[in-house]
Amino acid sequence: MKITDLKATTVTVPLEAPLRHSNGTHWGRFVRTIVEVVTDEGLIGYGEMGGGGESAQMAIAGLKPYLIGHDPTQLEALRFKICNPTASLYNNRTQLMASIEFACLDIIGKQTRLPVYKLLGGKLRDSVPFASYLFFRYPDEASGAGEVRTIEQLVEHTRSLKQQHGFTTHKLKGGVFPPAYELECYQALGAAFPEDRLRFDPNAAYSVEQSIQFAKAIEQFNNDYLEDPTWGMNGMRRVREKVSLPLATNTVVVNFEQLAHNILQPAVDVILLDTTFWGGVRACHKAAAVCETFQYSVAVHSSGELGIQLASMIHLGAAVPNMPFAIDAHYHQLKDDIIAGGKFKYEGGSIAVPEKPGLGVEIDRDKLNYYAEEYVRLGGYAYDRDPKRPEWYPIIPNDRWADPSKG
Ligand SMILES: [Mg+2]
Repeated sequence: MKITDLKATTVTVPLEAPLRHSNGTHWGRFVRTIVEVVTDEGLIGYGEMGGGGESAQMAIAGLKPYLIGHDPTQLEALRFKICNPTASLYNNRTQLMASIEFACLDIIGKQTRLPVYKLLGGKLRDSVPFASYLFFRYPDEASGAGEVRTIEQLVEHTRSLKQQHGFTTHKLKGGVFPPAYELECYQALGAAFPEDRLRFDPNAAYSVEQSIQFAKAIEQFNNDYLEDPTWGMNGMRRVREKVSLPLATNTVVVNFEQLAHNILQPAVDVILLDTTFWGGVRACHKAAAVCETFQYSVAVHSSGELGIQLASMIHLGAAVPNMPFAIDAHYHQLKDDIIAGGKFKYEGGSIAVPEKPGLGVEIDRDKLNYYAEEYVRLGGYAYDRDPKRPEWYPIIPNDRWADPSKG
C-alpha cells in the first residue's frame, strides 16, 4: 500500500464561550486542521492537528514530497523520514508527524478491520474517564451567556457539567486571576464537591514560592495532583521538594529526552501524555511503557481537540495500564464537531472506546465544508493574546493578573 495524496482542511468550530488561560484566550472557537492521508488501495486515514489558532494546511502540503509513495504501515520509517532528531533541528515536525501518524494508524486499522486500541495491544477498559476541565470564561459574544468569573458562577458551571456529563473529577484551569483568588475558587470547589477528585493547572504562571503556598493550602482536598504550577524542570523540582502533593506536567516532559532526565532527577510525578506533542499515539504508548517501568503514573493531556484527535486520546487511554486518573479534554466546551453522527457522548463522565476499525470516526463532509468556510470567513486568532486586554501579555512568573471584579 502506498500514500498517494495528503489533504489538509482547516476548520473553525465554535465553543460555548471564550476560554481564558494564563497566556490568553481561545476566542469563542477552535481552529483545527483536519488531515486526510489517501492511499492507492482506496483507504483514507484521518488525522488532526491544531493549537495556536492557526492553519496547518501549508505545513501538511509541504510533506507531500516526503510521503507520496510511502507505505502507511511503516510507522517507524515514517518517524525517521520526517522526524529524524538531528534533521529536525531545522524543521520541527513532531506535531505534523502526529497528525500523519493518527491517519496511518486509522488506515492500518481499516485495512485489518481492527480498532486502533487493538494495534496497541488491546484495551484494558471499555470506556475512558474524563475530567470536567473547568475554565474561567468570558460571556459568549452573541448570547451574553456562559461567563465563568465569580466563585458562584464557577461552582454552578461545575454542577451543571457534572449533571450533564457525569464528571466526578474536576480540573480547574487557572493562571488568569491573582493566585489568592484562584485559591478561593479551588477551595469553593472542594467544599461544594467533597466526594469528587480535584486538580489545578495554572499553566506554569506561578512563582516557585506561590506554587508552594498554593499546594500547602489545598492539602485537605481530594487532589489528584497539582499540574505545572511553575515553569521549568528545575522550578518544578524545587516545588516538589517542599510539597506533599504529586506534581504533574504537560510542559516540561514532552519528549523522551526530558522523560529520561525526569527519571534520573525527578521533578514531576505524573506525566500527561499528549498525542500531538509527543508525535503520535505510539510515541505516547511507548512513553507510558517507560513510565510503567519506573512506576510513574500517566494521564492523557488535551491540547484542544475535535473528534479525530479525541479518538486518538481515547484509544491511548484504553490501552495504557498505568493511568489511575481521568483524562483531560476541552471537548465538552465545543458546540459541534466535524465527525459523522454528532459529538462523542459522555456517560457517567466517561466515553466508550470506539469499536469500529481504525480510529472509529468518519468525517461529516457537510460539516467539514461548512466549518472550513467559517475558517475562510473568520481566519485564525491569537491564542496567546486576550482581545479584551489588547496591550496585555504575561511574564513568567506572572504578575499581570486579570481583575476578577471586571467582566
Ligand atoms: Mg496543563
